[in-house]
Amino acid sequence: MTKTILITGCSSGLGKLTARHFAEKGWNVVATMRRPDPELANAYPARILVAALDVGDPASIEAAIEAGIARFGGLDAVVNNAGITMVSIFEATPADAIRQIFETNVFGMVNVIQAAVPHLRRRGGGTVVNVGSGVGIAAMPLLSVYSASKQAVEGLSESLSYELSSQNIRVRLVQPGAMRSTNFTTTGMAASQAAPVPESYRPYFDHMLQSMINYPFASTEEQSVVEAIHAAATDPTDRLRYQVGPDVEEYARLRWSTSEDAYRAGMHRLTGHTAWRDMAK
Ligand code: NAP
Repeated sequence: MTKTILITGCSSGLGKLTARHFAEKGWNVVATMRRPDPELANAYPARILVAALDVGDPASIEAAIEAGIARFGGLDAVVNNAGITMVSIFEATPADAIRQIFETNVFGMVNVIQAAVPHLRRRGGGTVVNVGSGVGIAAMPLLSVYSASKQAVEGLSESLSYELSSQNIRVRLVQPGAMRSTNFTTTGMAASQAAPVPESYRPYFDHMLQSMINYPFASTEEQSVVEAIHAAATDPTDRLRYQVGPDVEEYARLRWSTSEDAYRAGMHRLTGHTAWRDMAK
Protein backbone atom coordinates (compact mmCIF):
# COMPACT_ATOMS: atom_id res chain seq x y z
CA MET A 1 0.00 0.00 0.00
CA THR A 2 1.33 3.46 -0.91
CA LYS A 3 1.90 5.48 2.23
CA THR A 4 0.70 9.04 2.74
CA ILE A 5 2.57 11.78 4.59
CA LEU A 6 1.47 15.30 5.55
CA ILE A 7 4.20 17.94 5.82
CA THR A 8 3.84 21.46 7.25
CA GLY A 9 5.68 24.54 5.97
CA CYS A 10 6.15 23.41 2.35
CA SER A 11 6.23 26.91 0.81
CA SER A 12 10.04 27.02 1.00
CA GLY A 13 13.26 25.51 2.34
CA LEU A 14 13.31 22.17 4.06
CA GLY A 15 9.57 21.52 3.80
CA LYS A 16 9.47 22.02 0.05
CA LEU A 17 12.51 19.80 -0.53
CA THR A 18 11.13 17.15 1.81
CA ALA A 19 7.82 17.06 -0.08
CA ARG A 20 9.69 16.49 -3.36
CA HIS A 21 11.88 13.79 -1.79
CA PHE A 22 8.95 11.75 -0.42
CA ALA A 23 7.13 12.01 -3.77
CA GLU A 24 10.25 10.76 -5.54
CA LYS A 25 10.44 7.87 -3.05
CA GLY A 26 6.89 6.87 -4.06
CA TRP A 27 4.89 8.34 -1.16
CA ASN A 28 1.65 10.29 -1.47
CA VAL A 29 2.32 13.74 -0.04
CA VAL A 30 -0.03 16.33 1.42
CA ALA A 31 2.24 19.36 1.03
CA THR A 32 0.77 22.06 3.25
CA MET A 33 1.48 25.77 3.39
CA ARG A 34 -0.18 28.96 4.56
CA ARG A 35 -0.61 30.34 1.04
CA PRO A 36 -1.04 27.41 -1.39
CA ASP A 37 1.24 27.50 -4.41
CA PRO A 38 0.52 24.84 -7.07
CA GLU A 39 4.22 24.46 -8.07
CA LEU A 40 4.76 21.19 -6.12
CA ALA A 41 1.49 19.65 -7.30
CA ASN A 42 2.30 20.61 -10.89
CA ALA A 43 5.70 18.92 -10.60
CA TYR A 44 4.24 15.68 -9.15
CA PRO A 45 0.53 15.67 -10.09
CA ALA A 46 -0.04 12.01 -9.18
CA ARG A 47 1.76 12.16 -5.86
CA ILE A 48 1.44 15.63 -4.31
CA LEU A 49 -1.68 17.39 -3.08
CA VAL A 50 -1.09 21.01 -2.03
CA ALA A 51 -3.35 22.08 0.84
CA ALA A 52 -3.73 25.27 2.88
CA LEU A 53 -2.61 24.86 6.48
CA ASP A 54 -1.62 27.38 9.12
CA VAL A 55 -0.36 25.52 12.20
CA GLY A 56 -2.04 28.16 14.38
CA ASP A 57 -5.46 27.47 12.84
CA PRO A 58 -6.90 24.09 13.94
CA ALA A 59 -9.72 24.27 11.36
CA SER A 60 -7.18 24.52 8.54
CA ILE A 61 -5.29 21.51 9.97
CA GLU A 62 -8.49 19.38 10.03
CA ALA A 63 -9.38 20.51 6.51
CA ALA A 64 -5.92 19.64 5.13
CA ILE A 65 -5.98 16.21 6.78
CA GLU A 66 -9.49 15.54 5.45
CA ALA A 67 -8.47 16.66 1.94
CA GLY A 68 -5.45 14.32 2.09
CA ILE A 69 -7.57 11.39 3.23
CA ALA A 70 -10.21 12.10 0.56
CA ARG A 71 -7.49 12.09 -2.11
CA PHE A 72 -5.17 9.30 -0.88
CA GLY A 73 -7.32 7.16 1.45
CA GLY A 74 -5.56 7.65 4.80
CA LEU A 75 -2.67 9.17 6.70
CA ASP A 76 0.48 7.28 7.75
CA ALA A 77 2.95 9.98 8.79
CA VAL A 78 3.28 13.67 9.63
CA VAL A 79 6.32 15.96 9.44
CA ASN A 80 6.09 18.99 11.73
CA ASN A 81 8.47 21.25 9.84
CA ALA A 82 6.91 24.75 10.03
CA GLY A 83 8.98 27.03 12.24
CA ILE A 84 10.15 30.60 12.80
CA THR A 85 12.96 32.31 14.67
CA MET A 86 14.14 35.72 15.81
CA VAL A 87 17.56 37.10 16.75
CA SER A 88 17.11 39.41 19.74
CA ILE A 89 18.12 40.54 23.17
CA PHE A 90 15.63 38.79 25.44
CA GLU A 91 15.04 41.80 27.71
CA ALA A 92 13.91 43.82 24.71
CA THR A 93 11.84 41.14 22.97
CA PRO A 94 8.12 42.07 22.87
CA ALA A 95 5.73 39.58 24.46
CA ASP A 96 3.74 39.20 21.22
CA ALA A 97 6.91 38.22 19.32
CA ILE A 98 7.74 35.63 22.00
CA ARG A 99 4.17 34.29 21.83
CA GLN A 100 4.30 34.12 18.03
CA ILE A 101 7.39 31.89 18.13
CA PHE A 102 5.78 29.58 20.68
CA GLU A 103 2.45 29.62 18.80
CA THR A 104 4.21 28.41 15.66
CA ASN A 105 7.03 26.16 16.89
CA VAL A 106 5.30 24.60 19.91
CA PHE A 107 1.50 25.07 19.90
CA GLY A 108 1.42 24.68 16.11
CA MET A 109 3.13 21.32 16.49
CA VAL A 110 0.77 20.40 19.33
CA ASN A 111 -2.24 21.26 17.14
CA VAL A 112 -1.00 19.12 14.24
CA ILE A 113 -0.13 16.12 16.42
CA GLN A 114 -3.47 16.16 18.24
CA ALA A 115 -5.34 16.37 14.93
CA ALA A 116 -3.25 13.65 13.23
CA VAL A 117 -3.06 10.97 15.92
CA PRO A 118 -6.64 9.58 15.51
CA HIS A 119 -6.05 9.24 11.76
CA LEU A 120 -2.67 7.49 12.23
CA ARG A 121 -4.31 5.10 14.69
CA ARG A 122 -7.05 4.35 12.16
CA ARG A 123 -4.30 3.02 9.86
CA GLY A 124 -3.02 0.74 12.63
CA GLY A 125 -0.18 3.11 13.56
CA GLY A 126 2.19 5.63 12.00
CA THR A 127 5.01 8.09 12.51
CA VAL A 128 5.31 11.69 13.71
CA VAL A 129 8.56 13.41 12.68
CA ASN A 130 9.24 16.66 14.54
CA VAL A 131 11.84 19.07 13.19
CA GLY A 132 13.85 20.35 16.13
CA SER A 133 17.18 22.15 15.99
CA GLY A 134 20.72 22.16 17.34
CA VAL A 135 19.49 24.81 19.82
CA GLY A 136 17.22 22.11 21.24
CA ILE A 137 20.43 20.47 22.44
CA ALA A 138 22.49 23.58 23.14
CA ALA A 139 20.69 26.90 23.78
CA MET A 140 22.31 29.91 22.12
CA PRO A 141 22.58 33.58 23.09
CA LEU A 142 20.47 36.00 21.01
CA LEU A 143 18.23 33.00 20.25
CA SER A 144 16.67 32.65 23.72
CA VAL A 145 13.05 32.38 22.60
CA TYR A 146 13.81 30.11 19.65
CA SER A 147 16.03 27.93 21.89
CA ALA A 148 13.27 27.71 24.51
CA SER A 149 10.71 26.74 21.85
CA LYS A 150 12.93 24.03 20.37
CA GLN A 151 13.75 22.68 23.84
CA ALA A 152 9.99 22.43 24.39
CA VAL A 153 9.89 20.41 21.16
CA GLU A 154 12.58 18.12 22.64
CA GLY A 155 10.55 17.43 25.78
CA LEU A 156 7.30 17.00 23.89
CA SER A 157 8.89 14.58 21.41
CA GLU A 158 10.66 12.51 24.05
CA SER A 159 7.56 12.20 26.24
CA LEU A 160 5.30 11.36 23.29
CA SER A 161 7.79 8.78 22.00
CA TYR A 162 6.80 6.71 25.04
CA GLU A 163 3.13 7.63 25.29
CA LEU A 164 2.28 7.21 21.61
CA SER A 165 4.09 3.87 21.37
CA SER A 166 0.96 2.58 23.19
CA GLN A 167 -0.95 3.58 20.01
CA ASN A 168 1.67 2.02 17.70
CA ILE A 169 2.79 5.53 16.68
CA ARG A 170 6.51 6.31 16.54
CA VAL A 171 7.84 9.78 17.33
CA ARG A 172 11.10 11.04 15.81
CA LEU A 173 13.06 14.19 16.45
CA VAL A 174 15.27 15.45 13.61
CA GLN A 175 17.79 18.03 14.85
CA PRO A 176 19.35 19.97 11.96
CA GLY A 177 22.33 22.26 12.28
CA ALA A 178 22.45 25.71 10.73
CA MET A 179 21.34 25.56 7.07
CA ARG A 180 22.33 28.66 5.16
CA SER A 181 20.36 27.73 2.04
CA THR A 182 16.82 28.29 3.39
CA ASN A 183 14.90 31.54 4.07
CA PHE A 184 15.11 30.93 7.79
CA THR A 185 17.92 33.29 8.82
CA THR A 186 16.69 36.13 6.59
CA THR A 187 13.16 35.81 7.97
CA GLY A 188 14.53 35.60 11.52
CA MET A 189 16.68 38.70 11.05
CA ALA A 190 13.68 40.58 9.63
CA ALA A 191 11.62 39.60 12.71
CA SER A 192 14.39 41.05 14.87
CA GLN A 193 13.38 44.57 13.83
CA ALA A 194 10.64 44.26 16.48
CA ALA A 195 13.27 44.14 19.24
CA PRO A 196 15.65 47.13 19.03
CA VAL A 197 18.95 46.41 20.80
CA PRO A 198 19.25 48.33 24.10
CA GLU A 199 22.41 50.49 24.27
CA SER A 200 23.85 48.61 27.25
CA TYR A 201 23.88 45.38 25.18
CA ARG A 202 25.23 46.95 21.98
CA PRO A 203 28.92 45.80 22.17
CA TYR A 204 27.85 42.32 23.35
CA PHE A 205 25.15 42.03 20.65
CA ASP A 206 27.51 43.13 17.87
CA HIS A 207 30.20 40.72 19.03
CA MET A 208 27.82 37.77 19.31
CA LEU A 209 26.19 38.53 15.97
CA GLN A 210 29.67 38.55 14.43
CA SER A 211 30.35 35.16 16.08
CA MET A 212 27.17 33.84 14.45
CA ILE A 213 28.26 35.21 11.07
CA ASN A 214 31.74 33.68 11.54
CA TYR A 215 30.19 30.39 12.66
CA PRO A 216 33.04 27.87 13.00
CA PHE A 217 31.15 25.04 11.26
CA ALA A 218 30.26 24.25 7.69
CA SER A 219 26.61 24.85 6.80
CA THR A 220 24.36 21.80 7.17
CA GLU A 221 23.28 20.57 3.74
CA GLU A 222 19.49 20.75 3.35
CA GLN A 223 19.54 17.50 1.39
CA SER A 224 21.13 15.60 4.30
CA VAL A 225 18.35 16.85 6.59
CA VAL A 226 15.74 15.75 4.05
CA GLU A 227 17.33 12.30 3.96
CA ALA A 228 17.33 12.16 7.77
CA ILE A 229 13.61 13.01 7.78
CA HIS A 230 12.98 10.18 5.31
CA ALA A 231 15.13 7.80 7.38
CA ALA A 232 13.23 8.86 10.50
CA ALA A 233 9.86 8.22 8.84
CA THR A 234 10.86 4.73 7.68
CA ASP A 235 13.14 3.54 10.52
CA PRO A 236 11.64 0.43 12.18
CA THR A 237 13.77 0.87 15.35
CA ASP A 238 12.97 2.75 18.56
CA ARG A 239 15.40 5.62 17.78
CA LEU A 240 14.22 9.10 18.81
CA ARG A 241 16.93 11.61 17.78
CA TYR A 242 18.52 12.18 14.36
CA GLN A 243 21.31 14.76 14.52
CA VAL A 244 22.35 16.27 11.20
CA GLY A 245 25.26 18.63 10.62
CA PRO A 246 28.77 19.18 11.98
CA ASP A 247 27.65 21.78 14.55
CA VAL A 248 24.88 19.62 15.98
CA GLU A 249 27.15 16.59 16.21
CA GLU A 250 29.60 18.69 18.23
CA TYR A 251 26.87 20.08 20.54
CA ALA A 252 25.60 16.55 21.14
CA ARG A 253 29.11 15.30 21.87
CA LEU A 254 29.74 18.12 24.35
CA ARG A 255 26.33 17.79 26.00
CA TRP A 256 26.12 14.04 26.37
CA SER A 257 29.74 12.79 26.34
CA THR A 258 31.49 15.31 28.61
CA SER A 259 31.07 16.82 32.07
CA GLU A 260 28.88 19.91 32.64
CA ASP A 261 32.06 22.02 33.07
CA ALA A 262 33.56 20.74 29.80
CA TYR A 263 30.21 21.30 28.05
CA ARG A 264 29.99 24.92 29.20
CA ALA A 265 33.64 25.63 28.36
CA GLY A 266 33.14 24.15 24.90
CA MET A 267 29.96 26.15 24.28
CA HIS A 268 31.57 29.40 25.49
CA ARG A 269 34.32 28.80 22.96
CA LEU A 270 31.96 27.88 20.12
CA THR A 271 29.51 30.73 20.66
CA GLY A 272 32.22 33.38 20.95
CA HIS A 273 31.76 33.93 24.69
CA THR A 274 35.39 33.20 25.46
CA ALA A 275 36.51 35.98 23.14
CA TRP A 276 33.81 38.25 24.55
CA ARG A 277 34.98 37.63 28.13
CA ASP A 278 38.57 38.38 27.09
CA MET A 279 37.42 41.59 25.39
CA ALA A 280 35.26 42.64 28.34
CA LYS A 281 38.10 42.30 30.90
P1 NAP B 1 12.06 28.48 5.91
O1 NAP B 1 12.50 28.35 4.49
O2 NAP B 1 11.89 29.85 6.49
O3 NAP B 1 10.73 27.63 6.11
C1 NAP B 1 9.86 27.80 7.20
C2 NAP B 1 8.49 27.33 6.78
O4 NAP B 1 7.60 27.43 7.91
C3 NAP B 1 7.90 28.16 5.66
O5 NAP B 1 7.26 27.31 4.75
C4 NAP B 1 6.87 29.02 6.39
O6 NAP B 1 5.76 29.39 5.60
C5 NAP B 1 6.41 28.00 7.43
N1 NAP B 1 5.61 28.62 8.48
C6 NAP B 1 5.92 29.64 9.29
N2 NAP B 1 4.86 29.92 10.10
C7 NAP B 1 3.87 29.04 9.75
C8 NAP B 1 2.56 28.81 10.21
N3 NAP B 1 1.99 29.55 11.18
N4 NAP B 1 1.83 27.80 9.64
C9 NAP B 1 2.36 27.05 8.67
N5 NAP B 1 3.59 27.23 8.17
C10 NAP B 1 4.34 28.21 8.72
O7 NAP B 1 13.11 27.77 6.89
P2 NAP B 1 13.65 26.25 7.01
O8 NAP B 1 15.09 26.37 7.32
O9 NAP B 1 13.21 25.43 5.85
O10 NAP B 1 12.91 25.81 8.36
C11 NAP B 1 12.22 24.59 8.45
C12 NAP B 1 12.40 24.03 9.87
O11 NAP B 1 13.78 23.75 10.09
C13 NAP B 1 11.95 24.96 11.01
O12 NAP B 1 11.23 24.22 11.98
C14 NAP B 1 13.27 25.42 11.62
O13 NAP B 1 13.15 25.74 13.01
C15 NAP B 1 14.14 24.21 11.39
N6 NAP B 1 15.58 24.49 11.42
C16 NAP B 1 16.13 25.38 10.53
C17 NAP B 1 17.50 25.63 10.60
C18 NAP B 1 18.18 26.59 9.65
O14 NAP B 1 19.32 27.00 9.95
N7 NAP B 1 17.59 26.94 8.53
C19 NAP B 1 18.30 24.95 11.55
C20 NAP B 1 17.69 24.07 12.42
C21 NAP B 1 16.33 23.83 12.35
P3 NAP B 1 5.48 30.89 5.04
O15 NAP B 1 6.12 30.93 3.68
O16 NAP B 1 3.99 30.96 5.01
O17 NAP B 1 6.10 31.86 6.03
